[in-house]
Order: sequence, then structure tokens, then C-alpha cells
Amino acid sequence: MIEICFLGTGGAVATEERDNASFLLKHDERLILIDCPGSVIQKIKKFKFDPREVHSILVTHIHPDHIYGLASFVHSLMLDDCFIQLFGSEETVNFCRSYLDLFHLREPKIKTRIDCVSLTPGKGFMLGDFLECNSFRVPHDSSSLAYHFFFKKEKKELIYSGDTSLSPHLFQEAEGIDYLIHDCSAPSRFFKKYPSLRRMHSNALELGQLSQKNSIKCLIPFHFFGELEFSLSEIEEEIRQSFRGTVIVPEDFDRITL
Ligand SMILES: [Zn+2]
Ligand SMILES: [Zn+2]
Repeated sequence: MIEICFLGTGGAVATEERDNASFLLKHDERLILIDCPGSVIQKIKKFKFDPREVHSILVTHIHPDHIYGLASFVHSLMLDDCFIQLFGSEETVNFCRSYLDLFHLREPKIKTRIDCVSLTPGKGFMLGDFLECNSFRVPHDSSSLAYHFFFKKEKKELIYSGDTSLSPHLFQEAEGIDYLIHDCSAPSRFFKKYPSLRRMHSNALELGQLSQKNSIKCLIPFHFFGELEFSLSEIEEEIRQSFRGTVIVPEDFDRITL
């Protein structure tokens, strides 16, 4: 069974309802954490999972709203004999090592060990016997990677864009895919008002258009800006103006089965 547990669905600015974006991917009783902002330990426990069962962390990029909770996560597991692989671009992995070293979290007294694995975009790697993953670059930050998951037994595929502007390469990769979790920071009216947003993020209207053009089966918009005033129904309406597939607009602590 493949499950997604949303720990946070917001952008860099948290709101009362939404924290910074991250989620758990549960597959074959294995837990994979995607990005690590804030207190993910507490959120994992709210889902009634044991944080010690997280065996991999995938980091999309090194902006604070995606990574600042890593030190606290490892510190919380300092007395537990866990082995966790952390994956990211070379820039991300180097940053994470330095960040953990600032807090002395890679010293022998810390029982949980983090093995930082630098990924080559385009080269696949295994996250379990039946789960392959590939990474590719997206236009957001020099450290940014998107992740493409291949669930071998279920014969399903999922892409998570991380933060990104709308990228033709991503939609080539995602053509006809079962599930796409994609940056959808705000409705299009804000991208007209603040054109510089286009360089780093995506709006709901054009995300819907490109998802329709590229035959995405299920679109999950994600990473909603907290500093702008809009409702999630506005996001959904803009997407549905052109997109005919399934749309799931997640809220924090939603749990979905793929
Ligand atoms: Zn972000
Ligand atoms: Zn970012």
C-alpha cells in the first residue's frame, strides 16, 4: 500500500492552518520523509507512527522552509540506534552535513547516524526492494531536485516537484503520470501582480493547463503561500478551468492512499 501523510502543505510563511511543506511517504511499512521543516517528530507521532522508523529523508532543496527541522529531528533521535539515509543534490548534501556539524550531531555520542547520499540527477536509486526513485533538476534554486517514484509492485508512479517554476522538462518527465504533487504557491492573479514569482514558483491556472496538456491523471497542488490572501477553493477552481483529471487539494494532516 502507498500512503501519503501531509505534515505541512504551506509555503515559507506558516499560517494557523498550514505549516511549511513536507510529507511522509509510507510504502511496504517503510517510512520516507520528504523535506524536514519544523517539528516533524511531533507530526509523525500525531499520525501514530514511530519517528525511529523513518529510514530515508529526501531533501528537495536547502531553503529554510524545507530543511530547518533536520537538526531537531536528529537531536530527538540521539539516544536511538537509527541509521537514516539522507538524499539530495551535492549542494544539498554538503549543506546538510555542515548544518548537522554546527550542532555536533554527527559525533559518536549521537547514536542515530545520518548517511548523506549525493545524487546524480537522472541516475536512479532504490528506496526499498520495490521502490525506485530518480531525481532531476527543476528551476528554483541551484540545489533543487524533483523526485520521480516508481512503485514496482503497484505499477504506479508519482512525481514530487518540490518548489519550482513551471518547467517543460518536468512535464515531459510527468507525461501521463498517475500522481503529480506540484508547487502551486498561489492563484494566477498574484503572479500578475508580482511577476517575479514566475521565476521560482507556479500558479494554479497554468499548472492546471499544463497538467491537462500532459495528461496527468491525478494532480495534487502543494506549497500554498501563507502571506497572500486566498482560499483553497480558488486554487481548485483555477486548476479545474482546464484540467479534467482528478484533483486532490490537501490540508495539513490529510492522509491519502494512492
Ligand atoms: Zn518552499
Ligand atoms: Zn524554496
